[in-house]
Amino acid sequence: MRFLHGFLAILPVSSSFQLPFKVPFFNSSQQPLRPAVASKPRIAIIGAGAGGTSAAFWIAKAQERFGIDVEVDLYEKESYIGGRSTTVYPYENTSLPATELGASIFVKANKNLWRAVDEFNLTRRDFRDEKGLGIWDGEKLLFTTSGGWWSWWDSAKALFRYGFQSPRRTQTFVSEMISQFLTLYSAETPKWDNITHLSSSLGWSELVSQSTSEYLKAEGVSNQFISELVEASTRVNYGQNADEIHALEGACSLAPTGASAVEGGNFQIFEQFLKHSRANVYINTSVNSISPAASGQWSLDSDRGSETYRAIILAAPWHSTNIELPVSVRISPQPYVHLHVTLFTTTLPSIPPQSFSLPASTKIPPMLLTTFEGARNGGPEPEFNSISYHGLIRDGEWVVKIFSKARISDKWLSKMFDGEIGWVHRKEWDAYPVLPPTSSFPDVTLAHGLYYVNSFEPFISTMETETLSSRNVVDTLLKEFFQSGICGPDAITDKDSEDYVYGWDC
Ligand SMILES: Cc1cc2nc3c(=O)[nH]c(=O)nc-3n(C[C@H](O)[C@H](O)[C@H](O)COP(=O)(O)OP(=O)(O)OC[C@H]3O[C@@H](n4cnc5c(N)ncnc54)[C@H](O)[C@@H]3O)c2cc1C
Repeated sequence: MRFLHGFLAILPVSSSFQLPFKVPFFNSSQQPLRPAVASKPRIAIIGAGAGGTSAAFWIAKAQERFGIDVEVDLYEKESYIGGRSTTVYPYENTSLPATELGASIFVKANKNLWRAVDEFNLTRRDFRDEKGLGIWDGEKLLFTTSGGWWSWWDSAKALFRYGFQSPRRTQTFVSEMISQFLTLYSAETPKWDNITHLSSSLGWSELVSQSTSEYLKAEGVSNQFISELVEASTRVNYGQNADEIHALEGACSLAPTGASAVEGGNFQIFEQFLKHSRANVYINTSVNSISPAASGQWSLDSDRGSETYRAIILAAPWHSTNIELPVSVRISPQPYVHLHVTLFTTTLPSIPPQSFSLPASTKIPPMLLTTFEGARNGGPEPEFNSISYHGLIRDGEWVVKIFSKARISDKWLSKMFDGEIGWVHRKEWDAYPVLPPTSSFPDVTLAHGLYYVNSFEPFISTMETETLSSRNVVDTLLKEFFQSGICGPDAITDKDSEDYVYGWDC
């Protein structure tokens, strides 16, 4: 009760959220931590990716609305904001277009990101990809279409190869998932402390407990459609085959119609979340351990020393953080897909067909996806998950991205692209969780005052869902300590508006 009263210190709203925001923005690790303001409850956030930066933003929204007097420190071990959302410039030349090295796309149904782009005056653009898609099985080019990415649903070629029913049934499956997903932005959005319960309240228990193949087969979708177009989508988006990945994430990987990105890089959304927060941001600062402190608080040890917090929000996949937790706090091991990203430039407008031992008349589409079906039937597995052209960086030179399970060698690149390779950049990521069918998920509240944003990732792993998870965590934290939520105890909402987004509009 003692600290509850401290947390309830209400400021007049006018003094609680004023522009310009207090931005000790990119503090270097050499600077000492500011002395703590003794009376203020303090919250720490670990990680400056989609999850952590949006958590700081949601707290700022509550400060703006009902003036909670709270101090927020965000710790990031890297030197940049964005986590798995970051860009590089071809030839490290900032006059050339920035290219996404990690998370590339989001869609209109991703209402937090969509809204953030508008509110922060960023420029949204269609995802930069060349038109045309093909599916490679390691030996044969199974299917090609000349339309844009994901426009294959209605293409005559798709109907001819797969018939009418399989694409339609799959489309219905995806549309139903999206309309249910959108309830997470309504004023009546479920709040969750247990993702299994959330899954069941959204009617998704069956989806997460079956593989994408199993689920779609039961819906009458043909094996061929699943092993080609569906699996091409699960492999490019999550590096996993359709018979391995649960059907909810399978549906997400089939959803990117109208894929968009932020001009100059998606990471700018996350920088803006921080700029519009009141958090003190410490980059180049690893958190090393969290342990219980006096009066129910938490002690956080980082490269800067030890600090005490009322609450801590962990917004990074715990397995990759090297953070020591108290023995009483358990997070089950969560394997991640280790993905190799190879970005390079070439003067070839498409991959020469000879590279795949195909007739010279074959046109290889600029987005080449893959299926595991050839390997299932005893053939070779493709050496890559996807190869995609992402537009010109200047006249006569294209930037291309390869996702693969193993390193793509210079020799292989040169062989495939006839020696026409310019700049090359490689990055290995623990990209997304391995997502087998399941019915159990990590805890959202790890202990009183200790919350885990990335508990959501084995359910759905995207930038957007990390902002939803952080919103839920901040709502939970505020309820526990302030008896309120992001929207305040008596939020006035225009919840019937079509554009209503919970957290932004309440
Ligand atoms: C190649 C690739 C492609 C992807 N494509 C898409 C896509 O198109 N669309 C999409 O929506 N999603 C995509 N994703 C997934 C998306 O990137 C993630 O779901 C999302 O960005 C995760 O955000 P996060 O904040 O939870 O974690 P992260 O972005 O991983 O952020 C965690 C942060 O915590 C920091 N950190 C870790 N340990 C510590 C520590 N001890 N102390 C301090 N800081 C620490 C890390 O440095 C990192 O910055 C892709 C991912 C990859 C890798």
